[in-house]
Formats: sequence, C-alpha cells, structure tokens
Amino acid sequence: MQCSCGCSEVHEVAWRRTADNKRVTFWSDGLVTGPFGFNLRGVGSAKSAWSTKRDLRAAWIVADLVGFLDFSEVGAAVKTARKLCEKSGWTTKAAIGRAVLDSLDKRTE
Ligand SMILES: [Zn+2]
Repeated sequence: MQCSCGCSEVHEVAWRRTADNKRVTFWSDGLVTGPFGFNLRGVGSAKSAWSTKRDLRAAWIVADLVGFLDFSEVGAAVKTARKLCEKSGWTTKAAIGRAVLDSLDKRTE
C-alpha cells in the first residue's frame, strides 16, 4: 500500500517517546516497533491492504497515547487499538483512545 508521501517502500513515518523515555517508531504499513526497529511482542506486520488500513488507523491512535504509556504497555496498546479499529469502524479515534487507556487501567478523567 502506498503511503500519502508517494513512496511505496515501507518506511518510518513518525516516532514518539514513551513516559519512561523509550523510542517507539511508526511505519508506513502501520507497524509499530521499539528502539532499533525491534518488534513489540505480539505486534506483527499487516498481511493485506485491509489490515494495513486498520493497523495505520490503530497506529495513529496509539501515537497520541504513547506519552502516557510506559514502554512495556505499548504492545498491549497496539493490539487493543487494532482490535477496536476492526470491531467498531464507526467509533471516533478519541473513543478508541480512551478505551485503549481504560484497557491498560490508566485514569482518563
Ligand atoms: Zn511515506
């Protein structure tokens, strides 16, 4: 799947730092990795155009939350966000983000 920048090779599109100051990288196919491009536990690459779209949506939701998370929580956040993006296409990004934080037992008052 081609990224909005026009490049069809998978490449880094953004990075963020977690609350415990670890680097998390976001890729153009929706993959989210840890420092040095290491895969997060249980978080794999998309296998189809459809799952790429889902993973990208989930990745941007997680990107907004990463500053609230410790690195050890990022993999679970990505998995939950992907699941929610799959189930409730109608839900807003903000609602999914809150649900992801709730799943990690983070207070979002
Ligand atoms: Zn791009």
